[in-house]
Amino acid sequence: MPTIADVVRELESAYDPRWAESWDAVGLVCGDPSARVRRVLFAVDPVAVVADEALAWGADLVVTHHPLYLRGTTTVAATTFKGRLVHTLIKNDVGLFTAHTNADVADPGVSDALARAVGLTGPLTPLQPSADDPRRGLGRVGSLPAPITLRAFARQAARGLPGTAGGLRVAGDPDREVRRVAVSGGAGDSLLTTARAAGVDVFLTADLRHHPASEFMEAADGPALIDAAHWATEWPWLTEAARRLTSGLAEKGITVETRVSETVTDAWTTTAECEDLK
Ligand SMILES: [Zn+2]
Repeated sequence: MPTIADVVRELESAYDPRWAESWDAVGLVCGDPSARVRRVLFAVDPVAVVADEALAWGADLVVTHHPLYLRGTTTVAATTFKGRLVHTLIKNDVGLFTAHTNADVADPGVSDALARAVGLTGPLTPLQPSADDPRRGLGRVGSLPAPITLRAFARQAARGLPGTAGGLRVAGDPDREVRRVAVSGGAGDSLLTTARAAGVDVFLTADLRHHPASEFMEAADGPALIDAAHWATEWPWLTEAARRLTSGLAEKGITVETRVSETVTDAWTTTAECEDLK
């Protein structure tokens, strides 16, 4: 049976920790590298419901996209949700591993899975190539097989992504035609200018705020915007990461069982129309 060290080695061959941003915290958060691994659960967020799911399924390792601790801490006491999570995992011999910005820029990475989920076909190129290797980078640019209206693309993207309370928000004329598309999993504010320079028809990302989006849309001839739930834009990558782990280990004659958590851990749990509040 493989160990946590075997699984970590395989994951880090796909998502090299050296590719992570300097502010990021990736790798093994808790767990003994010599511990045996039979089952690996993949999830976006290291939160209590995911730990519960790991225990219920009998996972030995949880792989999440988001780090549990991004900044330094002086305590893992069970007085905070993060400390409680660490206690739950360690008491039950479950490890926790994170691949975050190193998975964002990987080839294929988080935005490749997002691009395919919303219906892009053909080659994908990084929206913002990495300086050290332009095959990797943030976001992806690709094409739809044929031009469709922004409205139709938004519906297609909503169907391709897992359902969340907020759905998708669209900025731009719903009847305009779109074909060239940029996507970026997670918060994509910082790539707005890059998306415009790339000459795409629409940029799909998450966590867009009023002022950057409003100012972006004031400029004529720019791309339309689609703002999806942060969790939903990163979730498609989990299946790809699980597949890479199992196939990489299988080449070495090692078998692990993987599962992708379908628990929606997006922060937003419901919406209310103005009419509901009258
Ligand atoms: Zn994220």
